[in-house]
Amino acid sequence: MTQTSITRSWVASANGHADFPLQNLPLGVFSVKGSAPRSGVAIGDHIFDLEAALEAGLFEGAARAAVEATRGGQLNAFFEQGREARVALRERLIELFKEGSTLHGKIEAQGAKLLPLAANCEMHLPAKINDYTDFYVGIEHAQNVGKLFRPDNPLLPNYKYVPIGYHGRASTIRPSGTDVRRPKGQTLPAGQTEPTFGPCARLDYELELGIWIGPGNEMGDPIAIGDAADHIAGFCLLNDWSARDIQAWEYQPLGPFLSKSFITSISPWVVTAEALEPFRRAQPARPEGDPQPLPYLFDKRDQAAGAFDIELEVLLLTESMREQNIPAQRLTLSNTQHMYWTVAQLVAHHSVNGCQLQAGDLFGSGTLSGPENGQFGSLLEITEGGKKPIELASGEVRKFLEDGDEIILRARCRREGFASIGFGECRGKVLPAR
Ligand code: MN
Repeated sequence: MTQTSITRSWVASANGHADFPLQNLPLGVFSVKGSAPRSGVAIGDHIFDLEAALEAGLFEGAARAAVEATRGGQLNAFFEQGREARVALRERLIELFKEGSTLHGKIEAQGAKLLPLAANCEMHLPAKINDYTDFYVGIEHAQNVGKLFRPDNPLLPNYKYVPIGYHGRASTIRPSGTDVRRPKGQTLPAGQTEPTFGPCARLDYELELGIWIGPGNEMGDPIAIGDAADHIAGFCLLNDWSARDIQAWEYQPLGPFLSKSFITSISPWVVTAEALEPFRRAQPARPEGDPQPLPYLFDKRDQAAGAFDIELEVLLLTESMREQNIPAQRLTLSNTQHMYWTVAQLVAHHSVNGCQLQAGDLFGSGTLSGPENGQFGSLLEITEGGKKPIELASGEVRKFLEDGDEIILRARCRREGFASIGFGECRGKVLPAR
């Protein structure tokens, strides 16, 4: 079913909804007033309770099998089923919720039992995350950060051959809304030769795309680049909170460790590849002189349609702004088209050595900055490592995040002739060190 053939929903708030019109239908795990977490689909201002709908007999055949795999408060088994299950569920959801649906009356009659207001629900992680890998594919970010440390040689020679990544910490990934406790750790004060221990003084955010792995692979059995897109279940927003002072001292020679593992925030809704279909783009051409990807990373179809046009936004809301009723201030407006590697290339590369990927694994793209002021996906880039503080509408200044600051990530896809869809928010507020 193409996106253009879908028009309106009988769920009034879905029509023209900034994030969740009928064309999106992202999946997540939610609870109402302390009930056990269960699977649901966002539609307008509501969540469609998939488990209650299953009990009400609203699914049959392949769609029923798909919904059965979403039970138990985690979507791993559903992710494992792959594209066919997602499509069967999506087609049934569109049938149920399009304007003129014969089941409109039956669903609406059950009110909040089937369609609670999202505002009355709590969101949880959508899956059990066994492994989390953070990549570094935002080439503008890599260059901006590289310039701070190596003005003449911002990109290391491997960057254009290898999708750079490292193994992150899965146990401290949390859904949007979870507070961010300022971490403590070792830092090396400027001009000193011995470290001190204390609260992080250079706390930062990183604007990233999250990628949920669908069907996995057997250990020793790499995923070919041409098949890689079929191993992706969906997408979210990801904030890779970063303690820059801890990172600067600890990162050599093995990369970030405690500077990243205190928390990673994600938006709780899984936006599917099917919902993103109209927003696919060709992978931007590599600049003159850049090497072509090695054959195991190159696929014509992936190059032709493996990138996405997703607008990404970061906003900051300080304690003082909250008190004065000043709205959150935009710090960053960027786009997923700044990725040097496609998501399929990340999957192919991650598994090429025989590493096993499993349903519910999560990848971060790496910080997705643009080349211009206003497009930088971290404060490290915006303030040039704290050298150029920014002034806020409240009159405050920031080099890095202070206690009480809240960071909000948003994403939006737009295209002429298509309904816009969004990802929902990824929020986190900084609490003082303990
Ligand atoms: Mn990162």
